[in-house]
Amino acid sequence: MSFVEKTRFHADYHTHTEHSYCCEDITTQRLSRSQGEWSHQIAITDHSAHLVFPTEARGRLDSDEAPAILAASATDGRERVLRYLERVRALGGGFLAGTELDILPDGRPVFPEDLLPELDVVVGAIHALPAVRRGQPVEVALAEWRSQTEALMALGVPILGHPFRYLVQHRLPVRPADVAWLVDQAAARGVALEINSHYLCAEPDRWMVEACLQRGVRLAIGTDAHRWSEHGDFHYHRKLLADYGITTQAALDAVLFDHRQA
Ligand SMILES: [Zn+2]
Ligand SMILES: [Zn+2]
Repeated sequence: MSFVEKTRFHADYHTHTEHSYCCEDITTQRLSRSQGEWSHQIAITDHSAHLVFPTEARGRLDSDEAPAILAASATDGRERVLRYLERVRALGGGFLAGTELDILPDGRPVFPEDLLPELDVVVGAIHALPAVRRGQPVEVALAEWRSQTEALMALGVPILGHPFRYLVQHRLPVRPADVAWLVDQAAARGVALEINSHYLCAEPDRWMVEACLQRGVRLAIGTDAHRWSEHGDFHYHRKLLADYGITTQAALDAVLFDHRQA
């Protein structure tokens, strides 16, 4: 029998709670009761648009009204964010307070910018490309994807979450050259790229992991848990990393993002 070193991930940098309307059965209350069950830290990263926008407009990020909704939410949105942070902080030390940061097409964050440094972790992510919504040519959509990616990185996010999901979900081609471009940007900015197991983008993920290992770009572990059963399920991450020979704790520690060192 061959010896396999028991490895662990120190944190899951991307999970949701009742503060995200797409979350199924995870609540801060249930997480609070599960305190002590986890061998890793759990970052709570609810969608920033779901926190900032009023309840009736929570799903309107991917619409032409998003800038007007953000403008109208300045005061109330800030209050909602502060209440959310209070609730997440109350969970205690096993949990990290964060957000999955949305931006508008012009690069403005959908979150009070002065509060970003107060978070333990920020996962920047693309959830809306107007060119896709309007059925514009692929090259226009990819140019928007690049510009939003650059804007998130310019905001100082330590992690870029599910970099290709919006493209894959909308059946846009992700080419090796797009992945190479992304990893170049991440290398230049010192941003970690996420391996996300909620919605799999297997082929671009493989290209991304390979390029990150070559370029010294850190990989961030995220289950993006929307369901309780996703918590602590690192099968996809383990398998993908093992395929590139990352199987020991020392090898993992050398390539994974760690907010304590960021
Ligand atoms: Zn997301
Ligand atoms: Zn998410």
